[in-house]
Amino acid sequence: MSNNCLFCKIVRREIPSEFLYEDDNFIVFKDIHPAAPVHLLLVPKKHVRSINDLKPEDETIISGLFMLAKDMAKDQGINTSGYKLLFNVEKGGGQEIFHIHLHLIGGWKKTAYI
Ligand code: AMP
Ligand code: ZN
Repeated sequence: MSNNCLFCKIVRREIPSEFLYEDDNFIVFKDIHPAAPVHLLLVPKKHVRSINDLKPEDETIISGLFMLAKDMAKDQGINTSGYKLLFNVEKGGGQEIFHIHLHLIGGWKKTAYI
C-alpha cells in the first residue's frame, strides 16, 4: 500500500469507484476517460509501481491479471469480437498512475482504431 497512490486509495475505498469485480487480490473498474466503448482497468491490490518493479514473487499478479482479463472480456460480451490488453510502462510509455494495471479495451463496432 502507498499513501499517496490513487489506485491504492481506490482499493481502500477512500475514493469512490464502482467495482465491476473484486476478490482478495484484484479490483476492476471502468476507466474514467474511456478510450473505447469498453475500457476497464484491472488493478492488483498490492502496490507495485510498474512492470519494471515486479519481483519473482509477483508472478501471480501478472498471471492473475491475464486470467481475469479473459473473464472480464467474456463478462463484457467482447471476448469473441476482440479486445486489446495494454500495460503502459513509465512516463515514456504513457503511464500516468504509478500502480501497475492492465487496460482491457474493446467493444468497437468494426475494427480497433487504437
Ligand atoms: P495509465 O496511463 O496506464 O497510467 O492509465 C491510467 C488510467 O487511469 C487512465 O486511462 C485514466 O483515464 C485512468 N484514471 C485516472 N483516474 C481515474 C479514476 N479516478 N477512476 C478511473 N480511472 C481513472
Ligand atoms: Zn498503489
